[in-house]
Amino acid sequence: MPVNMQIAIDGPAGAGKSTVAQAVANRLAVPYIDTGAMYRSVTLSALQQGVSFHDEAALAAIASSLSLRFIPLDDGQRVFLDDRDATHDIRSAEVGALVSVVAAHPQVRERLVERQRLIVMENRGLVMDGRDIGTHVLPNADVKIYLTASLHMRASRRFDELAQRGYTGTLAEVAKVLRERDEADGGRKASPMRPADDAVIMDSTTLSIAEVVEMIIALCRYRSAQKGAE
Ligand code: C5P
Repeated sequence: MPVNMQIAIDGPAGAGKSTVAQAVANRLAVPYIDTGAMYRSVTLSALQQGVSFHDEAALAAIASSLSLRFIPLDDGQRVFLDDRDATHDIRSAEVGALVSVVAAHPQVRERLVERQRLIVMENRGLVMDGRDIGTHVLPNADVKIYLTASLHMRASRRFDELAQRGYTGTLAEVAKVLRERDEADGGRKASPMRPADDAVIMDSTTLSIAEVVEMIIALCRYRSAQKGAE
């Protein structure tokens, strides 16, 4: 299959987007770009610098100047922020609770979308996941997926992930944060989270990661054959 395909995967928190996106990218041997990690990195950097989450101009300045690198490794992707490994810190409960406030600022989104489009220009094909990839960042993506799952399933998955890293809160608290984040992401004015009109909606509540990956690969083959026939 040609690797010049753009694959957009959107959906709410905890639906399995990043695991699926990484697996699809590995299968197609193209880069995987986790745009949520970009919004999380701006949030972490603002926390570290004591910048207010309501200071849009200061947050936008961080979004443009932040040195951010994605390094693919065998055990997953590492995120380097100003040359420091921030892979775990950007996934803390604190960052998770604040990131959608940062992501709602239009200027922050503009700066990060500019950076995302530069990455797209540098790569023939790629898998990009987030909330507005199919609707805004890559409106002409070859394959658009909107991956979702029940709130209970998403919260359980996120709880297991956090518990492995020493989180001591409850499943109900994790579910509350996810629900609030979904409401903020879906309700904001600037490119809200929603499926693109031409996205394929997949519900991973009762599907394994492997099954979702196979379905996306099959869809990529189909679209690739369609492209070849055009
Ligand atoms: O994907 P992840 O859960 O790591 O994303 C963290 C947050 O970043 C989301 O809840 C959302 O507020 C923001 N985000 C966004 N647009 C994207 C990717 C993430 O607003 N394309």
